[in-house]
Amino acid sequence: MPTRVVVLGAGFGGMELSTMLSEEAGDLVEVTLVDSGDSFVFGFSKLDVLFGRTAVDSVRLPYSSFRHPSVRLLRETITAIDPAAKVVATDAGTHEADILVVALGADYDLTATPGLAEAGNEFYSVPGAARLAEILAAAEPGNYVIGVCDAPYKCPPAPSECALLLHNHLVARGIREESTITFTIPLPSPVPPAPEASRALLAEFAERDIRFVPGVRIASLDGARGIVLLDDGRELPYDVFLGVPKHHAPQVVLDSGMAEDGYIPVDPSTLASRFPDVYAVGDVATAGVPKAGVFSEGAAKVVARSIIARLHGGEAPAPYDGVGICYVEFGDDRVGRVRVDFLSGPKPTGSLDGPNAGYAAEKGEWAASRRARWFGV
Ligand SMILES: Cc1cc2nc3c(=O)[nH]c(=O)nc-3n(C[C@H](O)[C@H](O)[C@H](O)COP(=O)(O)OP(=O)(O)OC[C@H]3O[C@@H](n4cnc5c(N)ncnc54)[C@H](O)[C@@H]3O)c2cc1C
Repeated sequence: MPTRVVVLGAGFGGMELSTMLSEEAGDLVEVTLVDSGDSFVFGFSKLDVLFGRTAVDSVRLPYSSFRHPSVRLLRETITAIDPAAKVVATDAGTHEADILVVALGADYDLTATPGLAEAGNEFYSVPGAARLAEILAAAEPGNYVIGVCDAPYKCPPAPSECALLLHNHLVARGIREESTITFTIPLPSPVPPAPEASRALLAEFAERDIRFVPGVRIASLDGARGIVLLDDGRELPYDVFLGVPKHHAPQVVLDSGMAEDGYIPVDPSTLASRFPDVYAVGDVATAGVPKAGVFSEGAAKVVARSIIARLHGGEAPAPYDGVGICYVEFGDDRVGRVRVDFLSGPKPTGSLDGPNAGYAAEKGEWAASRRARWFGV
């Protein structure tokens, strides 16, 4: 009888894991991949939507195109996870697993920052980016604040990209000189493990008169006064707030008893949770790496190799190294390639190549290769 692998969440992690198992374990596995959505959207596409470079419908990759022989993709909402019994309840029934992989990503909590839902906007979800796109399409001179409410957050360079692209947008509308851009993050620098990338971004901010405020969280927004309150007591005037909300694992994960401090702790070398035959990969886990698709995919590969080795009676794979490449938009069609290594040495390291147009093309190829591998397009 094939081994029943149930994969929760069809994002970067869940799709790569399921694809590898289908390709390399064939008849030995029966993979059930569960997601509540009808389509996948790359994280960086939200910036394209935000700045009106594309429409929402053209960045959706429908799950109906995700077809792999040993994988059953079900559109169901997961309502309960019992990690000890490896049984999952959904709005359509239950799924029993021999091996369970949780790849449910991270959700946003707008209520954690008072005033954000009523008096601000966020660009980290597709609907949020689409809403802000309408505001930016009619942007007027004013004070623009890009604020990361709390850490950890997905794709640490993305808010820096937003600041640079916002500058270009306001220039194109002819209102940059009458406007201010302020960018706040809880981290000490834009990309802490890659000082070279941080220095390059800081230089770009200075050149464009973007005020950078590191090491602060957003305490609240006061829409009536047009004030962003920082957690160190400082106040920033704003007309348009482009926020990154506080993140946490989806509620169903928090309710399962698997999470600690908002996420599922795992052994970083194997991604195993403390429950036998239950793994967690990607943004939902605490594995000592940032929350980004490239790391979800890398972690998923290690779990897939370990399941495949077990089924074929082979040796356990090399431990997860936490190495990833992020493509960072610097504006004006220039992209930097940041290579970071979180787990293979005593401390995280990172380097920057570019930015230039060549890496913009490489980023396009990176996305195209995933579209082809997972969706056959
Ligand atoms: C603006 C922005 C730019 C980004 N740029 C990049 C980038 O350039 N490079 C990069 O590597 N990363 C980037 N990211 C980050 C990247 O999008 C995420 O880190 C990545 O998607 C995480 O992958 P994952 O598999 O862990 O989870 P996800 O891709 O989030 O997938 C989780 C899945 O679980 C499903 N799910 C959740 N709860 C339930 C439930 N109860 N029932 C059923 N299904 C459920 C969701 O529908 C979702 O499909 C960016 C993110 C943003 C917001």
